[in-house]
Amino acid sequence: MAVSLQAKYPLRPITNIPRSRRPSLLRVRVVTCSVTTTTKPQPNHEKLVVERHIVKPPLSSDPSLLSNKPQPKLVVEQRLANPPLSNDPTLKSTWNHRLWVAAGCTTLFVSLAKSVTGGIGSHLWLEPALAGYAGYILADLGSGVYHWAIDNYGDESTPVVGTQIEAFQGHHKWPWTITRRQFANNLHALARVITFTVLPLDLAFNDPVVHGFVCTFAFCIMFSQQFHAWAHGTKSKLPPLVVVLQDMGLLVSRRQHAEHHRAPYNNNYCIVSGAWNNVLDESKVFEALEMVLYFQLGVRPRSWSEPHSDWTEETEISNNNQA
Ligand SMILES: [Zn+2]
Ligand SMILES: [Zn+2]
Repeated sequence: MAVSLQAKYPLRPITNIPRSRRPSLLRVRVVTCSVTTTTKPQPNHEKLVVERHIVKPPLSSDPSLLSNKPQPKLVVEQRLANPPLSNDPTLKSTWNHRLWVAAGCTTLFVSLAKSVTGGIGSHLWLEPALAGYAGYILADLGSGVYHWAIDNYGDESTPVVGTQIEAFQGHHKWPWTITRRQFANNLHALARVITFTVLPLDLAFNDPVVHGFVCTFAFCIMFSQQFHAWAHGTKSKLPPLVVVLQDMGLLVSRRQHAEHHRAPYNNNYCIVSGAWNNVLDESKVFEALEMVLYFQLGVRPRSWSEPHSDWTEETEISNNNQA
C-alpha cells in the first residue's frame, strides 16, 4: 500500500523564505511514504552446520589439472545438526548394546557374589558393608571428575573417549533426548568399560572387602547414565521409588542436575548421588584444576569460552520437554 503525500499536500512555490537564507540550489523532493505489509519469515529450525575443509593441492601429475575447469579448493560438507527424533535409530538399543550391558552386569554379579560368600565364610559383615558404602560415595566423586574432564577437554577425535565427549556435547545441546534413549543404548559404553576393568578383578581377588568396594563402585559408575537420565525425567513419569531416592539425596536430584545445564555451565558435574557437588563447587576444585592445566599445559577448558551454540541448550524445545 503506498500513500502519496503529494496528493494530500500539493507543492507550492516557496516564497516566504528570505532570499538571503535560501540555499543557492534548492531541491524539492517529492516524498512518497510507503507502507508495506510483509509476512515475517518463520525461523528455520533446521540448523545447518557448514564445515569447510581445505583440500590438499593436486600434484603436478594430477590428471584433473589437464581439464580447463576450475578446480575447487574448498569442499563444503553440509550436515544437519538437528536433535534426534524420538524414533531415531540412534536412540534405540541394539543387540550389541544389550550384550555389553549383560556382560557388565555379569562381572558385577560375580563381584557381589564373591563379597557375600567371602563375608559369610570369614564371618565378616561390617568391613564389606563399609567398603560398599565407600564405593557408593566415591563413585559419585568419580562420575564428577570424569564428567568435568570430558565436558571441558578433548573432542570427538580424542582416542578412547572421543565418542563420549561428542555424546556429552550433544547432550548439552539437547538434554531432553537422554530420556528418549533406550536403556542399553544409554549404558553400553560404560558397561564395556566395567566389563574390561571388573573382569580381571573378579579373576584376581577373592577378598570380600575388595569386592564390597568394587561391586558398588562399578555398579554406580555403570548405572550413572541411568541416574542421569532419571535426573532429566518428569516427576510424574518417573517410578515412585526413583523420586523418593532423588528426594532423599541418594540419587542425583532433578533440581541439582538442572543447574548443570544452566549458565555458567561449570558446576554440578556429579551424577550418581550428587553428594559431592556442593563440596566440589564451593571449594572450586575444578576451577583450580583448570588453572593448573592452563598454566602447565596451556590448555583452556571449554567452560572458559562458553557458552556458545554448541554448548548451550536449545531452550525453546527443551522447555517443552523438560521437567
Ligand atoms: Zn555436562
Ligand atoms: Zn544432563
